[in-house]
Amino acid sequence: MDKKEILKEFSSDSDRYYKVKLFDEQGFVRKACSKCSRFFWTLDSGRDMCPEDADDTYSFIGDPPTAKRFDYTESWKQVEEFFVKNGHTSVSRYPVVCRWRDDLYFTIASIVDFQRVMGSKVVFEFPANPLIVPQTCLRFKDLENVGVTGRHFSSFCMIGQHSIPNENGYWKDECVDLDFRLLTEQFGIKKEEVVFVEDVWEGGGSFGSSLEYFVKGLELGNAVFTEFQGELGKHTTLDQKIIDMGAGLERFAWITMGTPTAYDCCFGPITNHLMQKIGIESDSEMLRKYFTAISKNLEKYDDLIDVRKHAVKNTGLTDEQVKKIITPLEGMYLIVDHLRTLIFAIADGALPSNVGGGYNLRMMIRRISGTMDRMNLKLDIDELVDMHIDYLKDTYPELDEKRQDVKIILKIESQRYVESKVHMKKIADKMSQKERAPTVDELITLYESDGVTPEYLKEINAISEIPSSFYEKLSDLHQSDKKKTVEQLSIDDLPETEMLFYADDPMSFDAKVLRVIDDMIVLDRTSFYARGGGQEPDYGSISGSKVVDVNKHGGVILHKLDGNIPKEGETVSCMVDVTRRSNITKNHTSTHILNSSARGVLGSWVWQHSAFKDDDHARLDITHHSSLTEKEVADIEKTANDIVAKDMSVTIENYDRGTAEQKYGFKIYQGGVVPVKSVRIVSIEDFDVEACGGTHVKKTKEIELIKITRTKRIQDGVVRIEFVSGNTAKQYVEEQKVKQTEQAKETAQKEIIEKQREEGKEKAREKIPILLEQVASLNDTTTIDEIEMTIQNSMKICFTASTQYDEFFHTNFGKKLVKNNPNSVYVGIFESGPTIRIMAYCGDEASKSKNAGEIAKSVAEILGGAGGGDAKFAQGGGKDTSKKDEAIAKAKSMILG
Ligand SMILES: [Zn+2]
Ligand SMILES: [Zn+2]
Repeated sequence: MDKKEILKEFSSDSDRYYKVKLFDEQGFVRKACSKCSRFFWTLDSGRDMCPEDADDTYSFIGDPPTAKRFDYTESWKQVEEFFVKNGHTSVSRYPVVCRWRDDLYFTIASIVDFQRVMGSKVVFEFPANPLIVPQTCLRFKDLENVGVTGRHFSSFCMIGQHSIPNENGYWKDECVDLDFRLLTEQFGIKKEEVVFVEDVWEGGGSFGSSLEYFVKGLELGNAVFTEFQGELGKHTTLDQKIIDMGAGLERFAWITMGTPTAYDCCFGPITNHLMQKIGIESDSEMLRKYFTAISKNLEKYDDLIDVRKHAVKNTGLTDEQVKKIITPLEGMYLIVDHLRTLIFAIADGALPSNVGGGYNLRMMIRRISGTMDRMNLKLDIDELVDMHIDYLKDTYPELDEKRQDVKIILKIESQRYVESKVHMKKIADKMSQKERAPTVDELITLYESDGVTPEYLKEINAISEIPSSFYEKLSDLHQSDKKKTVEQLSIDDLPETEMLFYADDPMSFDAKVLRVIDDMIVLDRTSFYARGGGQEPDYGSISGSKVVDVNKHGGVILHKLDGNIPKEGETVSCMVDVTRRSNITKNHTSTHILNSSARGVLGSWVWQHSAFKDDDHARLDITHHSSLTEKEVADIEKTANDIVAKDMSVTIENYDRGTAEQKYGFKIYQGGVVPVKSVRIVSIEDFDVEACGGTHVKKTKEIELIKITRTKRIQDGVVRIEFVSGNTAKQYVEEQKVKQTEQAKETAQKEIIEKQREEGKEKAREKIPILLEQVASLNDTTTIDEIEMTIQNSMKICFTASTQYDEFFHTNFGKKLVKNNPNSVYVGIFESGPTIRIMAYCGDEASKSKNAGEIAKSVAEILGGAGGGDAKFAQGGGKDTSKKDEAIAKAKSMILG
């Protein structure tokens, strides 16, 4: 739908769509901007341009229009006080990790808090009406603006003012009246300074009019009145009209403080602390001029690089001033902003990684590190985290508990960045050799496949500027990943199957066949659990035929049969495989236990990533930054088995979704989004609470035992825990025991053989003098104790490959033999570790016709190694043990030939 057309339509009947009671009461006049023709409402009849075009734009910098100064946290107190006083419930912020929507990683607006998915529709669920919420929102599209423009943040607090116009809530008149009084009464802004601009909003099939309110050119808030659905002209009024007023808390602080940038008044004491540390000489008059120029130019130029260039020119800054003041300031703001966003995200359970929403977080950590490197800064990140949390904990007390976890994750990630820099340098060097600069797509590929950030490339001068569209493109790429596809099957005319496994759960029952589709049947009622939530289906039999698969399509359950297929209308008797069901059930409850055990042992960032529960094995994938150590695995297993031993009760209750969220928080969504109004909450006393549709034991002791069989890091940020429970676990333990006993036996046997061999060698050594005597006294070809002796032309040739002789024997026997009898030859072949070795001795006389060196060399070559020495003594060897026989034959043929 074209927004311009809706605006044209609405503005042509401004009395109906825009005129509120306040405008009449106060005497607001409606005007068209003399420059852009947009319509706006003002008390200042002399004003003829809209806030964005008027001369007073950003004139609050250095000259705030309020008597009082409120920084970030004080501003929220003012806003909260005002709305609570006026009948609103102040609701705590929702997590920034959007667990309740499967199309968003992060919460991007306050209204998202109250949107729930029902099938393909989004419905609104409000915990109170009317309400306000200080919702931290994460947006990564404008990342290159952060730190530079003075007003862009990677996360900001959206003041959400929401109302449903029923007996408790209100509609346009009261909303605009409240917003006007918030500015004028609570913040003390002059009435004449407040300007309302006519606009429209549309999205998700609905639309409505909106009034943006400005003070001194700064848009503070936008009150959206979501009222219609459908195509303009054919539209109808929504059953549930909604007020979605979103205002930027950072801007409220900024307008009262009038600092050069919004960053100066929204991070508490950190900015000052860093300015001193870095040694930025801030000249406030100059900065005021510069950032006013930046703000004014921002709408004029598409490219941020141009905006900056013109602001430098307008302010008349020298290159030296830009280098010494502006650039370091931008870096500092970036670091502080990104760190605050990371604190919220990590505290809410997100992990930096290279997939999904973790992408943006890793990118921000790398931008922080890259900026610190570029500025040659050594900052204590832990100290900055503490300063941030100390400042924020009044408004967001939940951050205080996660302090340590945030520090751990940041440390691990920063370390990874340092490690990856060597790799990045190589890639960057290669890139610098290219003639042209890389395109945005090439930069994205570099980041995605190699983790090379554009900041890093800029830092080492591989590129001169980071293209403005880089972050927007990257953010777009990773926005839509989360969407799922839904399988369709045309059984729409059938009623939903009565799910007995959620009721009495009988293991044998009768049911009527409603539909036959090939080998699949639909019954009117069933106890067969259909595959879902990572739990594998039940097996069993239906009128004698095997049930081999069960799946759910919408509310209809299909049973796949192997055997005779019953006819439609028939009543069939059904039996569920009780053992299989019981095993799967134990595995499922074990998954919940392991998940909470892992979170307890590892840290608050552990969430279930996915799970699979079958009959004889199961696995749980959790979000975690590193591979698990043996100790961590042992600790998780111990914690889990303690819970089993405590025999805790597992209770299942159905709640209204909103009630469940308020009662237990968003931790219940371990298995993902629940697209129904009623949520099935499975609690293991106060140890674990999850929304889950699976089957569970009643008491944890039924599980008997949980054994982790293997763990593995399966992707960046995800660790797989494979496990077994119940009888399978006990069998596994038995098998492990048998294996261990067998291994122990084998080791013992090996030791005995080794010992015998050693003893044999020992004995052989003692035999040397006796054997020498025997060899000396005999003059016939014979074999003495495995030493083959051959007499050849009065030359005595001795050879042995017996395993009872070792290096010591060969050396001592060979040396002495040839010394005592110069016309003798000795060659020994033996195993030594992984190699086969040869030692050859030829006496003075014998060496005239036999060459020890040649023998050793030839034999070693056969063994795949090398040999060396001279005619009288040589040795060698090789690792190819399969050639031992060949080596022996070669040695013999050489000494005898
Ligand atoms: Zn205008
Ligand atoms: Zn579950």
